[in-house]
This record gives sequence, structure tokens and C-alpha cells, in this order.
Amino acid sequence: MPLRHLKTLRDRLQTPRTNATSTPVTFTDAHPHFEVIALGVRSGVADGNLSSYLIRPLGTNEAVLCDAGTLGHGLKRAEAVGALNDIPIMPNSTLSRAGHVLKQTIRAYLISHAHLDHVAGLVLTSPEDTPKPLYALSQTNAILAENLFNNRVWGAMGDKGPKPRIGKYTYHNMEPGQSHTLQDTTMNITAWPLSHASTTSTAFLIQQKGSAILYFGDTQADQPDGPQNLHNLWEAVAPLVQNNTLNTIIIGVTYPDTHPDDALCGQLRPKDLLTSLRELGHICGGRHHIRGLRVIISHVKETFHDGECPTRQIYRDLQDGNDIGVHFLMAEQSARYLV
Ligand SMILES: [Zn+2]
Repeated sequence: MPLRHLKTLRDRLQTPRTNATSTPVTFTDAHPHFEVIALGVRSGVADGNLSSYLIRPLGTNEAVLCDAGTLGHGLKRAEAVGALNDIPIMPNSTLSRAGHVLKQTIRAYLISHAHLDHVAGLVLTSPEDTPKPLYALSQTNAILAENLFNNRVWGAMGDKGPKPRIGKYTYHNMEPGQSHTLQDTTMNITAWPLSHASTTSTAFLIQQKGSAILYFGDTQADQPDGPQNLHNLWEAVAPLVQNNTLNTIIIGVTYPDTHPDDALCGQLRPKDLLTSLRELGHICGGRHHIRGLRVIISHVKETFHDGECPTRQIYRDLQDGNDIGVHFLMAEQSARYLV
């Protein structure tokens, strides 16, 4: 290769994709209540960018992390683009801002299910972490305690499972549909089970001072002969949609519409999500109730295939079928959403 080409290639490789002077992508509502920082947004071979959303009521120094597929890397990347700059921290040590956010701001983990693309960052960051509660359905906590933080795959970081235990994380089993106050915060959370291939996943409703945001772990569409988990969840949150307490949802759409029915692995395509959202509109008493509902799309599968960017393809599929006036946003790593 000629020298000048090598130099160009080297320059390109060395050019940071982000730097301290760039500004984060920010979506801002007219009257925001929560700050959402996307620490990781994809699935598949995107290690370093897997589902992980920091949610903070504005004006507070308290946040929860919904799933933790990517954590340490996601915080460092968010810090590099300035996405953590609005979080009030007390810089009293040599810790980076990302380190302060990890140790001071994130008060709890909400783990939807134990698949590695939702917990890998939690595992790898745990030695640097401070003690925290870990909220999940009992099935998920049991898997984490017995099969992950078990002194074989990783140290026993939790307060349950095989001994000896490090006990840094306190497992809190959530009762489906029951509101729990998050300890040391002003937030309430409620969990609902979701069907996801052979495991149970979870949706978390986070509420603070009359506002709410709904985060979905991986979910499949309700099947006629199976549990109606999405339907039941929509019925539970419909009043909050109707009175505009809940106007933002984070949910995964993993594959484009062309993906075959028998290879969904418990995930959604755009047409599946649109069908389910139409059902929400019906339950709310009319589609006008969900017009303008903000739906942040997560968990797009990254593969090694060339061809059209799957994120663009899924966005187009969603917009082509969007006869309900929903506002779709494709989640981007290190972006901020003031909602
Ligand atoms: Zn999963």
C-alpha cells in the first residue's frame, strides 16, 4: 500500500469518534421531567453498545439503570461527549465524572432478565461499583444469584446464592404489578412480566412526582394461545397514557419486518410493535390517546451482514406502518433524551 494511503488509514483509525468538545445528541421535550442517557442501545455483535439506559428525574442526583449490557464503557463514552455534564456530582476525589455517576448517581439496577446482553456490563463493572440494590422479578434474581454471581462464572457479588458471598448487591424480588419505593430515592417502580422465548423478561414503570416512563426488557408479541403479558401491561398503564402522565416508552425492535416468524427468538419486528401499540390505543379508548406518544426504539440487532443499516430499515418499516401518529426515535448510544 502506498505510504500516503497508509497515513490516511492511520489518521482515520486514530481520529476519535467522540471527543470532549463534541456535544451529545439531545432530544428535548418542551416540559421534560426525566433525563434518559443511552449507555448502550443495540443487540447482537455490538459488544460495547448493549442495552443500558440511565434514567434520572431532572433536578436530582439520583438515577436508576435499566439493564446493564454495557456499563463502564457506556459511561466513559457518555462522559467523552459531554452527555453526563448535567448530572450534579460532588467531585471530591480523583474519580472521573463517569466514576462519580457510577458510584454516586446510579442508586439501583433494574434488570429485565439475565441474558448476557443485558447484564454483561454489570458483571464487568461490579468490582469498581459501590453497594447497590438490584431490583428484578424473583426468577431473574434467582438466575443471577445461582448462575452468574456464583463464584464460578464471576464472584458472588450478591447477597444470595453460593457462599462465600461478597454481598455488594442486594437482591430485591419485585411482585408483579405492585409499586415499590426505590430505597434512598424519590422514585417508585413497578414491574410486569414479559414473554421472551424460554425466559421471563420484565417491563419497569418508573414514576416520580406525577410523571412516568416505561422501560421494556426484551419481549415477544402476545400469541393467541399464550400469556397475554403485553395486553395486561397495556391495561395497567392505560390510565397513565390517557391522562398524559406516561408519554415515553423505551422498547426493543430487534429485526426488520422481513425477518421470518419462526426465527424471532422472542423479539419484536416493527409490524409486531405497531400491532401492539394499536391495541394500546384501543384499550385507552381511541387512537387519539396515543397520538404523539414517544417510543424510543432499542435493541436493534447488529450482525456481520453487509447491506442496509438495520436501524434505518427498522425506522422505515415503523414509519411506513405508523398510522397511529406515534413519535418513533431510534436510540443512539451516548444520546440524551429529556422527556
Ligand atoms: Zn433477551
